Amino acid sequence: MNVQSDVMMRNQSTTYPETRERQSLYQKVMQQFNKAADLMELDTDVRKILSMTNNEIVVHFPVKLDDDRVEMFTGYRVQHNNVLGPYKGGLRYHPSVDLDEVRALATWMTWKAALTHLPYGGAKGGIQIDPAGYSATEIERITRRFTYALGNNIGPEYDIPAPDVNTNSQIMAWMLDTYLTTVPPHERQRCVHVVTGKPLEAGGSLGREKATGQGIAYMIETWAQEHRFSLDRATYILQGFGNVGSWTARLLKSYNIKLVAVEDVTGAIYNQDGIDVDALTDYVNDHHGVAGFPNSVSVDHCTFLSTEADIFVPAAMQSQITEQTAPLLNVRLVAEGANGPTDPEADLVLSRRGIEIIPDILCNSGGVVVSYFEWLQNKRSEFWELVEVDTKLKQILMRAYQSVKDKAKEYETDWRTAAYIVAMTRLERVYKERGIFP
Ligand code: GLU
Repeated sequence: MNVQSDVMMRNQSTTYPETRERQSLYQKVMQQFNKAADLMELDTDVRKILSMTNNEIVVHFPVKLDDDRVEMFTGYRVQHNNVLGPYKGGLRYHPSVDLDEVRALATWMTWKAALTHLPYGGAKGGIQIDPAGYSATEIERITRRFTYALGNNIGPEYDIPAPDVNTNSQIMAWMLDTYLTTVPPHERQRCVHVVTGKPLEAGGSLGREKATGQGIAYMIETWAQEHRFSLDRATYILQGFGNVGSWTARLLKSYNIKLVAVEDVTGAIYNQDGIDVDALTDYVNDHHGVAGFPNSVSVDHCTFLSTEADIFVPAAMQSQITEQTAPLLNVRLVAEGANGPTDPEADLVLSRRGIEIIPDILCNSGGVVVSYFEWLQNKRSEFWELVEVDTKLKQILMRAYQSVKDKAKEYETDWRTAAYIVAMTRLERVYKERGIFP
């Protein structure tokens, strides 16, 4: 028996039959979950329920490519839990997408919605694909065929996808359009909220595109205020320059905080005098990556991670801060823009080193919060001003921040565990009230 399954046994959690040599992403989520469940003495039955996902949908579907060849694709949608409301969560297009990854990400969505008090459960999905290898028309056909294959496993009051890694508002528009062809004509107007993160013209919300970055900026601002730490001329490093990373950087400009290093899949760049965020945004649009950006030096991965700065914002993929890389970090705060960027062992290293963390389910929850606003606007045929969206987002995030802070104090624990406790307390209460059928 390996160490991990030993931990699972002791904690009496249910788990899946297949085991792997390396620790899977889902096992990492369960490790975080078990730590919080032990501490709060979560009800044993609720613990069993939350340890497994409700539904796991795997679809294989053919798509004709531009050169007339047919290729088979594999898509996933995992629905972790819907006791608080319809399943909600993004879809990613990435080679690493598999059942284990999507299972873990779906579970994080349940905690995220519970923590921010949204009336949603958690889900996640995606296609195992490197989108860079396909043309725009191929991506459109792949998206439409995937949507069709998912069929009634998604729906405006049942499971509502949104953008995630390598997906965007255009992909949501294609999903919406395809989904609508599967419902009777007289019901179509009532189904626009089947996906969120849509383009404005197709029923999107102001402020949704920047929402995750906006949330991260609010979190950093709040953390700084609480620590009486001036962001003016402070420094940060950023991993990932997609939607989340680039919006975070653009929004942090107003605090006069200096971006000194950025890394993405193409490489890492450094400039101790600060990187011009607008110029970098234009550059990345043209060159599809940060590598080669003028007025910066290229650095390797370890040098990037060891860069001296006040804050690190990981806004790319999961498991970037590991037991091996955590000792390299040279910052005061990690503000998690990505989902699951820090491994459980790395959490211990960072805590030992006095590096604080604003955990993912709190720090990056701005995206799903504004998705909720979009969903509400669609249902009520309303259109909110940007200031209304931003004000409400800030309110929700500040409330969640405060509840995590209070729980961390109450249980004398780290912020990730505290965030889990807030989320699980809410879920536990609902199960207690509703009971288990039959
Ligand atoms: N993909 C984003 C997340 O991981 C947003 C999900 C949503 O808006 O439903 O939180």
